[in-house]
Amino acid sequence: MLASYAVRVEDSRGRRYPEAPHPYRNDFQRDRDRVIHARAFRRLENKTQVFTRRYSDHFRTRLTHTMEVAQISRTIAAALQLNVDLVEALALVHDIGHPPFGHAGEHALDALMREHGNFFDHNLQALRIVEDFEVRYANFRGLNLTFEVREGIIKHSRDYSGSDHPELTEYLLDQRPPLEAQLIDLTDEIAYNTADLDDGYEAKLLTVPVIRAEVVVFDRFYRQVEAEYAGAQEKLLFNEALKRVLNRFVTDLIENTRKQVAEAGVASSNDVRKLPRRLALFSPDVEDERREAKEFLYRSLYYAKALQPEKKRAEHVICEVFTALLAHPEALPSSYQEKAREENLPRVVCDYIAGMTDHYIEALRKRLP
Ligand code: MG
Repeated sequence: MLASYAVRVEDSRGRRYPEAPHPYRNDFQRDRDRVIHARAFRRLENKTQVFTRRYSDHFRTRLTHTMEVAQISRTIAAALQLNVDLVEALALVHDIGHPPFGHAGEHALDALMREHGNFFDHNLQALRIVEDFEVRYANFRGLNLTFEVREGIIKHSRDYSGSDHPELTEYLLDQRPPLEAQLIDLTDEIAYNTADLDDGYEAKLLTVPVIRAEVVVFDRFYRQVEAEYAGAQEKLLFNEALKRVLNRFVTDLIENTRKQVAEAGVASSNDVRKLPRRLALFSPDVEDERREAKEFLYRSLYYAKALQPEKKRAEHVICEVFTALLAHPEALPSSYQEKAREENLPRVVCDYIAGMTDHYIEALRKRLP
């Protein structure tokens, strides 16, 4: 049962290249499956989320992070009676445009592109992957995804202006995305804020006393579980407290979004699109808790001294490979050499690097002139 404000698959604006319907799967289910079968999706397994594999095999990769976002998103979408198939497709595709080495890699690539009067943006990259780089079908390039999935890729986390991005005007840039896409940015936040506390603790970069002192919501639940499970190991108390933080964020997002929807009086996904603001939101109290957790992670984990050498190294590897390929385009694979005849070389080199896994760029670096 879908809510009146959910996106209905039968109302989809459709695919670029019309295709016959499938007897057992609707169009959003097919899009979800196309993402799972894409090469760029498989590569997420070997792309860094926060910690490189050097630390341990237990940390999140971009792939397991993506699966966590999909899991959380499905729960929220079902509770709000949104289109779960569309939400799942959007969650699975949301990080497909990320380069190797996590945010360090993204910053390095963007800085290099800016030297050439250009830039790197992972949402735009994701759109180009599903529209062009994936070559699987005889009739067209890309995955031929429905309009709603392509729109969600562009609009889930930020608004792009039509004057800066005339190439995106077909995506109704003056309108909000449907609730199915609005959710993704927030479920992404829930997933990585809780997972990074977990991985940071596992890596021994964050300790329970420090997290308790700086993240109020964690401290409140930790006190609860300490009283409930007197004498339990710290690791288990940590897990129990963190689980409750995750549950609080998810429950609040469901309940507050439901409240926003009721107050706005929206009766269709088109009503949602036409509102001046987004309706998927945390309540003010939980929004403060989320921000506090996020700021703590920036301060104490992402910018932690212990992770700096790793980050510097990542930037260095990206820079070295970018510079070498610019100087020696003959070292590019033939498909990219062909592209370089139509597009400028820095963009082609950037696209090649952005698609690489951590492993691949390390290996390539050793082979380059
Ligand atoms: Mg993400």
